[in-house]
Amino acid sequence: MQPSAGLYIHVPFCRQKCGYCDFYSITSLEKIEAFCQALLTEIQMVAPRFAGARFETVYLGGGTPSLLSEDQFSRIWQALHNHFSIDPEGEFSLEANPGTLTEEKLHFLRRLGFNRLSLGVQSFNPDELHFLGRIHSVEDVLASVEAARRAGFDNINLDLMTAFPGLTRDAFTRSLSRAVALRPEHISCYTLIFEPGTLFYKRMERGELVPLPEEAEAEYYQLAEAFLGEAGYQAYEISNFARQPAFRCRHNLIYWTYRPYLGLGPSAHSFWNDRRWANHRSLERYCRNLAAGQLPVAFQETLDRETQMFEYLYLHLRLREGLDRRAFQLRFGEDPYQLYGEKLDRLVDLGVVNRDDRRVTLTSRGWLVADEVVVNL
Ligand code: SF4
Repeated sequence: MQPSAGLYIHVPFCRQKCGYCDFYSITSLEKIEAFCQALLTEIQMVAPRFAGARFETVYLGGGTPSLLSEDQFSRIWQALHNHFSIDPEGEFSLEANPGTLTEEKLHFLRRLGFNRLSLGVQSFNPDELHFLGRIHSVEDVLASVEAARRAGFDNINLDLMTAFPGLTRDAFTRSLSRAVALRPEHISCYTLIFEPGTLFYKRMERGELVPLPEEAEAEYYQLAEAFLGEAGYQAYEISNFARQPAFRCRHNLIYWTYRPYLGLGPSAHSFWNDRRWANHRSLERYCRNLAAGQLPVAFQETLDRETQMFEYLYLHLRLREGLDRRAFQLRFGEDPYQLYGEKLDRLVDLGVVNRDDRRVTLTSRGWLVADEVVVNL
């Protein structure tokens, strides 16, 4: 019997590409049906290899999965339940953009079985939404949250973006305050990253956009942590805040605690035992492979033990609970304090890591420079 795992489906369509976004998505919405057909084929082809697995989460991300029709959702949902063993008590999340949801559709999705909704809000300031290239308005956000509540969604996440050019402390505080006023169960705050290939990256190269200095990123982070903490949201992962432990995202916790996940759809990544692989980042290629009876895998690798131990360590350090020494020993048969002792001591001296006999965690200062801590491991 294989361990419980997560199932991710990448739906690669958006009405418009946001300037900062590096996820694989296209705006040719007329191809959605072809994608669905290919996805159903992929589910059938892949499922026998995971016959012993129990999936405790299903996450439809993207892209903008809320662009699918009710009929398309139904067929995908049915196929997943026919071909995989899915925990009926699981977490079933849907990413959605405000402005792509009607109340009718939300009722349908809740009845179908989705029990968590993640809304890409990013900001409550119209000028900032325009700057980021978002298609929705602040009113769309309010309407979507209210409609989702009426449809019975009692686990809602709002994504906010922070540390982008032009953001001010006052404006960010206003966005945080309006987010909190909606009482979502979960809030994610992501720092804008200039990813190669994005419109923002090109604008940065042309000198039109200037990334904020690192100190500003840390300042915004501290602001978010203090504001959300005051409002009753605890940071359980560097960018993620929940009102109660029960509202922590179970699917993302599978990634962060180094448990297996299967990804379907173009560009989706999978991690299973000591293997990692990814599907083609091209809808055309994805569909072509599946039509020819081939899995659309673009890349795969086997992870050696050192890599697995290191990844396990740094992913756990991003969690409030940090790394549990005993759990590491049980998984790898080695003591992390023996393996990484000197490096951890150095980080303790620098004041970015705490450790006692049982656990290693980042200090508050460590949380502000987590990426650098990882580089120094
Ligand atoms: S809506 Fe989301 S996935 Fe689509 S382009 Fe914008 S950020 Fe990327």
